[in-house]
Amino acid sequence: MKIAELFYSLQGEGALIGVPSVFIRTSGCNLRCAWCDTPYTSWSPEGADLSLDQIVNEVKAHPARHVVVTGGEPMIQPEMIPLTERLRGLGLHITVETAGTVFRPVACDLMSISPKLSNSTPNGEWAAQHDRLRIQPGILRQLMERYDYQLKFVIEKPADLEEVRGLIEALPADPRRIVLMPEGTDRDTLRERSVWLAEIAKAEGYRFTPRLHVELWGNQRGV
Ligand code: SF4
Repeated sequence: MKIAELFYSLQGEGALIGVPSVFIRTSGCNLRCAWCDTPYTSWSPEGADLSLDQIVNEVKAHPARHVVVTGGEPMIQPEMIPLTERLRGLGLHITVETAGTVFRPVACDLMSISPKLSNSTPNGEWAAQHDRLRIQPGILRQLMERYDYQLKFVIEKPADLEEVRGLIEALPADPRRIVLMPEGTDRDTLRERSVWLAEIAKAEGYRFTPRLHVELWGNQRGV
């Protein structure tokens, strides 16, 4: 399995924010978000081919009770099912972070789904494919029915909430599982967007999440 990085940190986003976790970041993605914060897994995928044994041994080297399989898009990886079953065998809580465009019956305790809004569409040759793939209602419903989930939306501007409301109503999704996160990879942008996004979260009754790892360590790999 092509792995871009494997590291031990704190979960920086969503319902499990602050929880010490091992992150397995797979390389490769079927989308191309304009603001992708891990372009080394999407626009220019990097990484080494690791066997399941190598991955599991690296995970076991850390004192975490939680593991996060992320990307890129981990659900496009054919070995996701055996990998997550091996992780389950270690007794770890498993989060899968996905854009929700591909279904695989993986072992997972929290399906952290981040459907991509129109603010993610890039200019250029990837625009049409990205726009066609980014919202897959049937796949989202399948994931939400099968797993404990959160729906995490990356918000760039207040008007993005119209799309969020529309999707939640169309699916439909439990409003208590909606998480709003500011888009940004530097502290100043995140702080500015957090101020108005926190008020929107209060008005809508949705959860707000900061990006703790960026606040603590900045936008760098391995955190
Ligand atoms: S889905 Fe995630 S990894 Fe893929 S391009 Fe978008 S932000 Fe990057």
